Amino acid sequence: MGLLYTKMKIFHFKEKLDSLSEESNQISPPLHVRIKPTNICNHDCWYCAYRADNLQLGQDMNVLDSIPRIKMLEIVEDLAAMGVRAVTFSGGGDPFCYPHLLETVERLRDSKIRFAALTNGSRLYSSIAEFFAHHATWLRISMDGWDNASYAAYRNCPDDEFSRVLANMETFKKIGGKCYLGVGIVVDIRNFNHIYDLIRKLQGIGVDSVKVSPCIVSNSGAENNAYHDPICSTVKEQIAKAMAEYGGQEFEINDSYHKQLETFSKTYHWCPYLQISPVIGADLNVYTCHDKAYNIKDGLLGSISDKRFKEFWSVNRSKFYGIDPAVICNHHCVADSSNLRIIEYLSADKNHLDFV
Ligand code: SF4
Repeated sequence: MGLLYTKMKIFHFKEKLDSLSEESNQISPPLHVRIKPTNICNHDCWYCAYRADNLQLGQDMNVLDSIPRIKMLEIVEDLAAMGVRAVTFSGGGDPFCYPHLLETVERLRDSKIRFAALTNGSRLYSSIAEFFAHHATWLRISMDGWDNASYAAYRNCPDDEFSRVLANMETFKKIGGKCYLGVGIVVDIRNFNHIYDLIRKLQGIGVDSVKVSPCIVSNSGAENNAYHDPICSTVKEQIAKAMAEYGGQEFEINDSYHKQLETFSKTYHWCPYLQISPVIGADLNVYTCHDKAYNIKDGLLGSISDKRFKEFWSVNRSKFYGIDPAVICNHHCVADSSNLRIIEYLSADKNHLDFV
């Protein structure tokens, strides 16, 4: 298997890249749309960025919003007609709490769009698990606690939930199919001593990969660094030990613990990525990205409550350039390093390209 988390994927879509700048005057469909079907969640994680009052992410989220069934089917129809390549379902809430998820992914299966989801895994069973196992490209389950007691304390969920989620994952892998099952471990000051044990446990039940990331506790990069500094070396040692013992072709361990500890400041004045992977929220607003979802002041591109997505996307191209990351995106941004690469690519002097 090749590199799953590489930032270079976008460079396989030259036509899209060349349509991005304001001067190109082309409108092309997004490649990958993230849909937040519902804001309802059956867990209550203390660090959930959508529910934390001190983070800009999710500041305008209504926890009861869900995309109406008819609207969801219309969105899927539009994405297929536009030639969108992939859809990821995520929160807001947990996508598996959305009552129309199975019908939605059945429609996607019948299109050319590939799909994936982020979930807490507690509802990964019965027909929806069967369907994902056979038709989804990947599924990623978020984890933090390392046993029943710690997991329940993190998430304010039933005492045996950790065991049930592990059992769901194990059963899911035994279904067979082609869906790649990953786990995202979120590191904080409670679990930092348990990362190796948790990776070992996950490898033992047959998951395909584990990604280790830092818990984001502030909009400020300096405050995040201060939070993680005391535990960083311990976490890194455990990741290295797990990689040495278990990492390889059959089980990938992705160390994203360091990458998000960088500075959050931006130096560029337009965002390529919002045309590549925008977000449709459960409030029927279209947002620039996952990191600005439910931030109406800074992240809103517009609403599709009274129009179709394909109509929304095709008019008023200028809205893509009204967001200035150097001014309003000085916080965590998953697309930052991709944006930097794309802007450099587009800035290459056309008269000198031949001198490669
Ligand atoms: S720069 Fe990052 S945070 Fe800002 S709109 Fe673009 S993807 Fe979102």
